[in-house]
Amino acid sequence: MAAVAAASLSCARAENLPQFDGARALAITRQYVDSTGPRWIGSPGHARAEAFIRAQFRHDDVEEDTFTTNTPAGSMTMHNFIVKFPGKKDGIIVVASHYETNYPLRNIHYVGANDGGSTTGLLIEMADHFRGKTPLDGYSVWLVFTDGEEAIKSWSDSDSVYGSKHLAEKWQADGTLRRIKAFLLADMLGDRDLDVQRDMNSTPWLEDLVLQAATQYGWQSYFFQTRTYDEDDHIPFIKRGVPCADLIDLNYGYDNAWWHTADDTMDKLSAKSLTIAGDTILETIRLLDER
Ligand SMILES: [Zn+2]
Repeated sequence: MAAVAAASLSCARAENLPQFDGARALAITRQYVDSTGPRWIGSPGHARAEAFIRAQFRHDDVEEDTFTTNTPAGSMTMHNFIVKFPGKKDGIIVVASHYETNYPLRNIHYVGANDGGSTTGLLIEMADHFRGKTPLDGYSVWLVFTDGEEAIKSWSDSDSVYGSKHLAEKWQADGTLRRIKAFLLADMLGDRDLDVQRDMNSTPWLEDLVLQAATQYGWQSYFFQTRTYDEDDHIPFIKRGVPCADLIDLNYGYDNAWWHTADDTMDKLSAKSLTIAGDTILETIRLLDER
């Protein structure tokens, strides 16, 4: 009985909290992954991914950030997308996800249902919580789809996170960086066995706020049970003093066996995991707005 009472209490509390629709996010992810397939930079799949993102936001304020950079496979043109929802408070909260898959130097052809797919669906669905409500009561929210997160050849400081590195440099030069209150990174959050590690490269107070948000829904057991030092799209921002929380589940399949393989497919994902991730991010934004 005690368990039932606790469950209904958490439902009652959850009614006052943002409610994210993980089933819709999963449906968008499926559509995205099925229609794009492997989508490494320069591939037809990548062009379809760009078109897919453009189509989702054709009525919104979208900035396309196109740049050319050197990689171990030569010069490449990459595309970040920044979808902007202005707020009344001075400052910006960024929610970011990469959307491409690995360059197939080692002949890996995978669709990245979880890695790059699930959080693209998550961000697209999340836009619905801001669309038509601008100016938002709190800070501006920018949904950022980064390109070139994955290494082209093998992961290093110079061969990784091309898109976020470019944005961090550009935003430092034009003054935008100073206005960013928080950088929330979503990566590999569709895993049906969700287990988000505490990233020791992220900002402790912001991760504490994420945990506070998750706890309000009763989702706390899905967060920070173990620790990791993750290198991801947040690194160029953390290096420049922006508060960051890297929300990633690096335990995808037994011993991360499905990561960067042909096994990273839609059947490994769940709507519930996307609901947990989406609820937690939306509530974190609300807590940031109240600070
Ligand atoms: Zn990856």
